[in-house]
Amino acid sequence: MSNPNILDAALTRLDEAAKHVQIDGDVLEKLKYPRETTKVRLLIRMDDGSRKSFLAWRCRYDDTRGPTKGGIRFHPDATAEEVETLAFWMTVKCAVTNLPYGGGKGAVQVDPRTLSKAELERLSRAYVQAFARIIGPDRDIPAPDVYTNAMVMGWMADEYASIQGQSVPAVITGKPIALGGSLGRDDATARGGFYLTRHLTQRLGLPEAAPRVVVQGFGNAGQHIARLFHGAGARIVAVSDSRGAVHDPNGLDLDALLAAKAEGRSVLEAAHGATVISAEDLIGVECDILAPSAMEDMIHAGNAASVCAKVVLELANGPVTPEADRILADKGVIVLPDILANAGGVTVSYFEWVQNRQGYYWSLDEVHSRLRTIVEREGDVVWGIAQDKGVTLRTAAYIHALGRLAGAIEAHGTQQFFTS
Ligand code: GLU
Repeated sequence: MSNPNILDAALTRLDEAAKHVQIDGDVLEKLKYPRETTKVRLLIRMDDGSRKSFLAWRCRYDDTRGPTKGGIRFHPDATAEEVETLAFWMTVKCAVTNLPYGGGKGAVQVDPRTLSKAELERLSRAYVQAFARIIGPDRDIPAPDVYTNAMVMGWMADEYASIQGQSVPAVITGKPIALGGSLGRDDATARGGFYLTRHLTQRLGLPEAAPRVVVQGFGNAGQHIARLFHGAGARIVAVSDSRGAVHDPNGLDLDALLAAKAEGRSVLEAAHGATVISAEDLIGVECDILAPSAMEDMIHAGNAASVCAKVVLELANGPVTPEADRILADKGVIVLPDILANAGGVTVSYFEWVQNRQGYYWSLDEVHSRLRTIVEREGDVVWGIAQDKGVTLRTAAYIHALGRLAGAIEAHGTQQFFTS
């Protein structure tokens, strides 16, 4: 079960940012609570003929800046608090990158690895049947998240189309290319983080040639970030998955690791000459870039002091707790915060939504160059705020987002407007 106080912990980052800017109290009041969270039970037919029910949620946290946007996760530990926190992060993330969206998130409490493919399809379709009145291309637009993928999005888009009686591709992003998906969405989360790190390389004090990279969590984002850095000459010195970790200071055989994952095997089975270590020990491996790429709260008060990286690249949402943030800052470890570093995924989701609405599709180069422009532009702004105010990049990113959110909230009038 995820940390029950996860939303309170997340909101401390907003309070920290608010100390550094003039913000109307109305704005913070609005951002402190989710606008609506709907909880349902999905009842599906299992392959053996029985019926089984699963808890599911969709949270629309804040829609001041546009329709709510955010993924759907299938995970056995999902809770309402976690969904709301993830939706809060989406609200802030879309503001940091200036996408015309608010924040949302969804989840089903299920271990998808225990379902057959046919059961997974029925569960995906049941989710859309339950939430069809909540989602919509101008209302709330889901996407993939942990343990969901393009095929799941394809089933969901198809179910929505049959409910509406017409094709509505812009209701969901991260779809298969053949069903209106965008080129470049598959590796977009990692690519955004990769562009950001490369752009800031000198400012971060990272080596230009062959930086050492450690990847915690070897799912979609983890595998792509390893591939992108490796392609640019980096050494991938350690990676972990749910079963453990492998380490080789001279660089791992990435092709063997990727091949093992493609066959549904663990990285441990592709260790070759590398040392098998525990997933916890991976956090302390000496490297230039540590990229937590899977779940929340992976770097916490208990292990942050062991981090031996120059930079933590947060590809997961919320992988570093507020206590760990302080420990890392004291050690001089720079954190590239999730709301900026992993925003590539939702940015290319936005491109997919735009393409669906235009009915006109872009080339891969166009997607990459537009993504790079946004990541570098917002990265520069966040870097500048951090320098000006002497704060961490995380606080700077929250300050930046808060400026945009406040602009939108205040445009409806503040207490000062109504009382003066
Ligand atoms: N689940 C991803 C995230 O946390 C992507 C969301 C989206 O594309 O809407 O940012």
